[in-house]
Amino acid sequence: MKKRVATNLTTFFFLYIAQSIPMSFFATALPVLMRQGNYSLFAIALLKLIKLPWILKFLWSPLVDRRTETAADYKRWIFGSEIVYAVIIFGVAMLNIETHFTLIIFLILLAFISSATQDIATDAMAARSFERKNSSLLNSMQSMGSFTGSMVGGGFLLLLFHRIGWSRLLPWVAIFVLIALLPLAFNKGITLQERKNGKKATSRDMLLFFTQKQIWRQILFLALFYAGLIGILSTLSPYLVDRGYQMKEIGAMVGIFGVSTGILFAFLSGIFIRRKGKLRSRRVISALIIIPAAYFLWLTQSEIENHALILIGVALVWGTYGMASTLINTSAMDIVRDGREGTDFTLQIVLTHLSAMIISLGSAWVGDLAGYSGLFAMELTLAVISFIFVRFFEPFHVKRMEYLCLMDSIIARYNVPVPRYTSYPPANFFRDDYEERDLIRAIDASNRQEPAHLSFYIHLPYCNRMCHYCGCNAYPRTRGSSDSDYVDAVIHEAEIVCRHIDPDRKIAQIHYGGGSPSTFDTDLIRKINETLFSRFGTIDNPEIAIECHPAYMRESTYERLADARFNRMSIGIQDFNPAVLKASGRLPSLLPMKEVFALLRERQIRINLDIIYGLPLQTVESFTDTIAQAIDLAPDRLVTFSYAHIPHLFPRQKLLERKGLPSEELKNNLYHAAQ
Ligand code: SF4
Repeated sequence: MKKRVATNLTTFFFLYIAQSIPMSFFATALPVLMRQGNYSLFAIALLKLIKLPWILKFLWSPLVDRRTETAADYKRWIFGSEIVYAVIIFGVAMLNIETHFTLIIFLILLAFISSATQDIATDAMAARSFERKNSSLLNSMQSMGSFTGSMVGGGFLLLLFHRIGWSRLLPWVAIFVLIALLPLAFNKGITLQERKNGKKATSRDMLLFFTQKQIWRQILFLALFYAGLIGILSTLSPYLVDRGYQMKEIGAMVGIFGVSTGILFAFLSGIFIRRKGKLRSRRVISALIIIPAAYFLWLTQSEIENHALILIGVALVWGTYGMASTLINTSAMDIVRDGREGTDFTLQIVLTHLSAMIISLGSAWVGDLAGYSGLFAMELTLAVISFIFVRFFEPFHVKRMEYLCLMDSIIARYNVPVPRYTSYPPANFFRDDYEERDLIRAIDASNRQEPAHLSFYIHLPYCNRMCHYCGCNAYPRTRGSSDSDYVDAVIHEAEIVCRHIDPDRKIAQIHYGGGSPSTFDTDLIRKINETLFSRFGTIDNPEIAIECHPAYMRESTYERLADARFNRMSIGIQDFNPAVLKASGRLPSLLPMKEVFALLRERQIRINLDIIYGLPLQTVESFTDTIAQAIDLAPDRLVTFSYAHIPHLFPRQKLLERKGLPSEELKNNLYHAAQ
């Protein structure tokens, strides 16, 4: 399990760096080139518009959601868009940066449309393939992937660009984009959580996202959370140019040192969020974000020209940015509607990009007007506002997150095999030192208790064929084994026990379980009943119940059981889907259930239907259908049992592993589907 999580994390890490390497290279190299060409801060900030596809990608995200159901669908989208991305980068390499500047910008815009599409599919696949408890690890991988891309694209590639130039560097970038797809190509272990909502995503879903109750809190949170860092980050390179640094040095300071700090803190914050919870992490990180803005303001006003102090500033801004990115991604991934994962996650991330773009432009404008002091003062104000918002206005989904986290921990804690309570005391309380006199003492005590009614449980443990999932005390009928010998032994034991029971007590209930008691000859069962009825009277209308395996029951079997005074039958349907039954080694009912119900209703027999969730091939849709069919039959009682996988006790259950057991989350969804 851990290995699969690690493999999936690595796969997503590569997908995220594949997007961000070229983007970071273009986003870092072009502003530096422009500043060296004496463009204004505002003109450089306008260059951010080439990231417009990443802002507008929400427009086509419902299309991706609509066309993706399986992991293979997501892979097709990712491979397709990534290959287009690589081809365009290769085309850009053929052009001259000085003479084809406008065409290059246009092609980069197209390339970003492709990478944005890859991002939609990747995010949606990530949201569906990780359990919520691991989401912060995934999101730290997402931030690390994007920062590593920034480090390589905005650091190492900038240095290489300095040495080998545009046309020799970019083909290698294109090749790398393709190589980064290899982990996904070879990863066969990505399994997606079932969608509960069968409806296809539509463009209207984008609008409906904003109609969710209290969603404005999440939107404000996304817009504000790292507003106090964005202005610093977007003007950091020009700031360093103005401090006299060369492109090579800026590449090392920002692209390598700064971004590696970001990667480290993105990773650490993933662990921190997992341990400390999302709410506390928000508060801590929003407080930390105030520090870089205050630091840069102090640095600028004190006019100290010290390389180490500037490096500290770079580390502060990138470290907090790494933490904030992981937190924002984790928070956005929590607020996705079923079947609209790509749309909702994309919309939220787009909101952060949009606010980042506005803040970049605003801070650059303030920088042009009021210098770096004004810019950093503005950032400090935004960071404080964000902190106040997080601290005093509870983000709208905290309760929902807490609920989901609570559910995750409850499922994780209680999704363990426990003893069945078909007997009292349950099997785990059985003791070897329990002797005959203990039993007699217990019966004597029960004779003095009120109500004095009797309930008998008769266990008939043989089955014609064993179901793969069986966890009962049951055995296959073998040649030579005799049902009548077993029944004689039961009657003998009943007589010994009954001797100690007060004869005035009345039978309120007899229940036959197994095994498959309904596969025993009805005359044998009748013999047991008669033994009990000959010793004790009954209350009015006692319940005489039996578990029935419908695969072996003809019309006459039901009738004979009714004649033997059975007035309640528990029919083990388990699932109406023949594929699920086949995968579970269970035979379906011999007679159509409607016929069985008509027959039993005619004889006023109460009917119980047993269904199991957690079997191979069950999906939310198929299980919902089973439940709907069961409800249509209108049984007196419908019971859903959770399948208990305990192969160390019942090795035959390993057969189910080969067919693929549902994940914890799917099992939980099946349970809720039945509610
Ligand atoms: S019929 Fe019931 S007792 Fe028999 S093998 Fe199947 S699950 Fe087990």
